[in-house]
Amino acid sequence: MKALQASTSYSVGFGISSVAPPPIPSHHHRHLIVAKVEPTEKSVEVMRKFSEQYARRSGTYFCVDKGVTSVVIKGLAEHKDTLGAPLCPCRHYDDKAAEAQQGFWNCPCVPMRERKECHCMLFLTADNDFAGQDQTISSEEIKESTSNM
Ligand code: SF4
Repeated sequence: MKALQASTSYSVGFGISSVAPPPIPSHHHRHLIVAKVEPTEKSVEVMRKFSEQYARRSGTYFCVDKGVTSVVIKGLAEHKDTLGAPLCPCRHYDDKAAEAQQGFWNCPCVPMRERKECHCMLFLTADNDFAGQDQTISSEEIKESTSNM
């Protein structure tokens, strides 16, 4: 398996925090933009269930590092709280509200729906080096893996 290398930034309004992020492959050259405020438990639960259902439906798997899965789920939940839609948390937007309304990057985004391409590594096809074997993640796993962020 390829080495996982951290290249993720946790942001407060795109500022980088001092907390070490979970690993993301470096070759993707991207930054995960996640919760600038803690998402509500309700939204995290909604997005957790959505992620489990969509992984099953699309025949994809969560990352071997559930910390990656957890961070993305919380990022989606934060956008659901603040924008009313689960805008992809792994991209930069000049106008988040407009993007959420437009819908292309609302999860599951168009690239995922059309080609099973999830650049957040939330949904991975079985042949992906970073795919685990799980299509489930518990709320405890999410809490544990993001408790120090
Ligand atoms: Fe982001 Fe698309 Fe993956 Fe959802 S499916 S997490 S919107 S890249």
